[in-house]
Amino acid sequence: MPDFQKNIDSILEEVKNSSAIGTVASYIPELATVSSAKFGIHLIDANQQTYAAGDANEAFSVQSISKVLTLSMALGILGEEIWKRVDVEPSGDPFNHLSLLEQENGIPRNPFINAGAIVISDILVTQLKNPKEDFLNYVRKLADDSTISYNESVAISEKETGFKNYAAANLLKSYGNLNNKVEDVLDFYFHQCSLSMSCKQLCDTFYLYMNRGKCKRNTSYLTINQIKRINALMLTCGFYDEAGEFAFEVGLPGKSGVGGGIVALLPNKFCITTWSPGLNKKGNSARGMQALERLTTMTELSIF
Ligand code: GLN
Repeated sequence: MPDFQKNIDSILEEVKNSSAIGTVASYIPELATVSSAKFGIHLIDANQQTYAAGDANEAFSVQSISKVLTLSMALGILGEEIWKRVDVEPSGDPFNHLSLLEQENGIPRNPFINAGAIVISDILVTQLKNPKEDFLNYVRKLADDSTISYNESVAISEKETGFKNYAAANLLKSYGNLNNKVEDVLDFYFHQCSLSMSCKQLCDTFYLYMNRGKCKRNTSYLTINQIKRINALMLTCGFYDEAGEFAFEVGLPGKSGVGGGIVALLPNKFCITTWSPGLNKKGNSARGMQALERLTTMTELSIF
């Protein structure tokens, strides 16, 4: 195995000085309060050795990274049934685009664009007794960390400004692909996106996607086949209309969020999270992508 600490220390130096820092998301006003100078990186290997640099322990808004976790919970409860309501194809469109949804009669292209994630939220609102509480407990169990919480200010901020998500949910409802009330589903969706976690906590949570479905305490949450499918979706759809570029530059399955986080993993080897709030034009962390490109190039470790 390469010297991960040496690699991430030198990546931090390189990327801190990069001029392509990106722009912090402001369409959710609460996200715009975060400094674009932040940069954190944390890596956990298959033996649970950890390596960190920069702001790796500072919590940030995970946003769309949460979509992997809701998908996992829904898949764990309902199994293959969920694919009747959401497809598994890359969209080639930005995360919040709606035109394909109309063309394809209310079946979202995949569970990581907003419309697809809203269908998954609808499934959880139906299936769970106390959806927000039960989902939070699920994440806490995966991470083995009871301190993980929602950020209410971020959830409220998005509730007040998430017009495109209201549009998506209403379109889904008009096609009969939303069983609960729009307000209830979006309240859950805005909360899942508002989860506040550090790079370290995200690595602890995503450890199971690298470890064939078993979390750090060796409890099995997903089958090897389910992990195969979720990792495939992260590779093909995890970065929206930049999924091809991420596979090309980095070569790992992963998931981004507009809070500036990216989680990526190499099955059976390691899981890594970067956080840098400045986003590129496609809504993915600019310096996070650079850092991950450097890591897989330096270590010559990727799925390819
Ligand atoms: N909550 C955000 C939204 O719905 C999530 C988007 C993202 O992280 N790409 O717009």
